Amino acid sequence: MTAIQKPAPQAPPLDTTAFDELRRSFRGELLLPVTPGYDTARRIWNGAIDRRPACIARCTGVADVVAAVRFARERDLEIAVRGGGHNVAGTAVCDDGVVIDLSSMRAVSVDPAGRRARVQGGALWGDVDHETQAHGLATTGGIVGHTGVAGLTLGGGIGFLMRKHGLSVDNLLAAEVVTAEGGIVRASADEHPDLFWALRGGGGNFGVVTSFQYRLHPVGPTVVAGPVFWAADDTTDVLRFYREFAAEAPDELGSIVRLGTVPPLPVISEELHWRPAIAVICCHAGTVEQGESAVRALRRFGKPLVDLLAPSPYAAFQCGLDDTVLHGWHYYWKSTNLAGLSDDATAVVADHAYTAGSPRSYAVMFHLGGAVARVPRAATAYAAREVPHNIIIDAVWRPEESGEHAAAETAWARRFLQALQPHRAGGVYVNFLDSDDDASRVREAYGDQIYRRLAEIKAEYDPDNVFHHNKNIRPG
Ligand code: FAD
Repeated sequence: MTAIQKPAPQAPPLDTTAFDELRRSFRGELLLPVTPGYDTARRIWNGAIDRRPACIARCTGVADVVAAVRFARERDLEIAVRGGGHNVAGTAVCDDGVVIDLSSMRAVSVDPAGRRARVQGGALWGDVDHETQAHGLATTGGIVGHTGVAGLTLGGGIGFLMRKHGLSVDNLLAAEVVTAEGGIVRASADEHPDLFWALRGGGGNFGVVTSFQYRLHPVGPTVVAGPVFWAADDTTDVLRFYREFAAEAPDELGSIVRLGTVPPLPVISEELHWRPAIAVICCHAGTVEQGESAVRALRRFGKPLVDLLAPSPYAAFQCGLDDTVLHGWHYYWKSTNLAGLSDDATAVVADHAYTAGSPRSYAVMFHLGGAVARVPRAATAYAAREVPHNIIIDAVWRPEESGEHAAAETAWARRFLQALQPHRAGGVYVNFLDSDDDASRVREAYGDQIYRRLAEIKAEYDPDNVFHHNKNIRPG
């Protein structure tokens, strides 16, 4: 990853008339380097990614996706697939090739009686929560509302509801997929079951998913949720308390630990903004009474700086972190699964979490287990069923702070990960890998057995590795 901005090329890389043919069978917008809006359209969440595709094919539906895949294949053009555009490694956009951009395909339709939702491949989790909560329903999504449904689900999908309702992939009932050949198939337990297995964790390797069908569960609409912050000096004590608190938590209680600074959110008093702090952020998927009882000990622990853990609308809570990770800032991530929160591991976390140069950098630990761990490992391509916690170390800086500042933040994330080596569980969540995490880390994410099976299915559905602009599974 680099923060250096590339100069605009003197001429577009491809003869733009080459795309006239695609235009004939394409209803959406085709953005070429000469088209107004191209520079905005090629930008994704991570502002450090600066790639210049030959064409951004903004699809309006399945037929557009088919047309774009066939067109790119016939001309041997690189393909990148964009869902929410959130992947830190920037795999949603490529240089010179065609970006199959689903950002206009965000429809969500809910069948409340059947407790199902059909979600288009470019939707964001905020879209899903908004529509499903109108019926008092939800499924497991991510912890930030502007994250894409597609990329998150295809990697597994961890979030506050997972301990009660499983991962996003555990709630996936079916997917509609445009294959590398430009065909349209439906994958479910009964149709293309091998493909369905691979889609549940294997990432964007097997085709372009134009829609997902999810199982929904009654959630809220009011849930006990929110953060409690303590001063950074209390980190060791808070983590030791949290270790027991999390281990004894009911499945309904999802929680993460966020270490960094107090974000400058309007709901928090200004004098606390940017103060180094540890937060435990919870969401209880049961009744308000059960939720209040489940978090009582946490709220009473030590001397919180601020306690915002209270009955809240679930959909609003799910967007509560959106402004702490803005589009266009520069990001660099390192991540690993953790064997547990031993005293030694928590000491490493406490020693490193607050040594970043930027007040925007932070680390997050997810508490897994519960329903995630009860699904047999071989049931889906998501491998880390038995891991209790993982950590993501998120170096953040603003575009104007590139250069030395960027190098220092990047070094902080690497140093932090290195110090955690003795405490790793083995494996890493594939959706948390960055662009400098190589093929061996992708293998590590799956383990040999699951990787081998994914490679076999890849050989069946995409033998030429057309979809390789991703955390790639090579055809086996
Ligand atoms: P994009 O960048 O659009 O796509 C990433 C890759 O996914 C593409 O290269 C492609 O290979 C594939 N892809 C995307 N759309 C499609 C499609 N329609 N069909 C086929 N392949 C496709 N993950 C969690 O599990 N839980 C979290 O709580 C969580 N929180 C996050 C918070 C932030 C702020 C960020 C930036 C990320 C978070 N993630 C989380 C990680 C997230 O799962 C990945 O970044 C994921 O790739 C985002 O999906 P996207 O559709 O936005 O990605």
